[in-house]
Amino acid sequence: MSAESTDTKFIVPVKGVEKSIKLDEKAKSELQAIGMMDEKGKLKLKGVSPKMLKRMKLEAVDCPVFKKELGFVQCYVCSNFHSRVMGKVYCKGEPLS
Ligand code: SF4
Repeated sequence: MSAESTDTKFIVPVKGVEKSIKLDEKAKSELQAIGMMDEKGKLKLKGVSPKMLKRMKLEAVDCPVFKKELGFVQCYVCSNFHSRVMGKVYCKGEPLS
């Protein structure tokens, strides 16, 4: 399947940040609800190694939907996340709150 399928609305570059951006409370409770985070707040993303996770924590996007800078982990687990190709997120761009 092509990354540029019709359900991609935004192509958002992933950038490096010096300090990891914390997940907001909503994202945390969503992650806990789907079993991707334990009660202590430790992330358990399926298919993501600790090394990858460490790298993902130092990446961010300027999200066009939430209109703010978000950590890449939050973007990765977002329902709008379609794929990541060559340092760019293919975002479905659906309105989210
Ligand atoms: S996938 Fe979600 S967090 Fe990432 S850019 Fe799109 S709306 Fe923003």
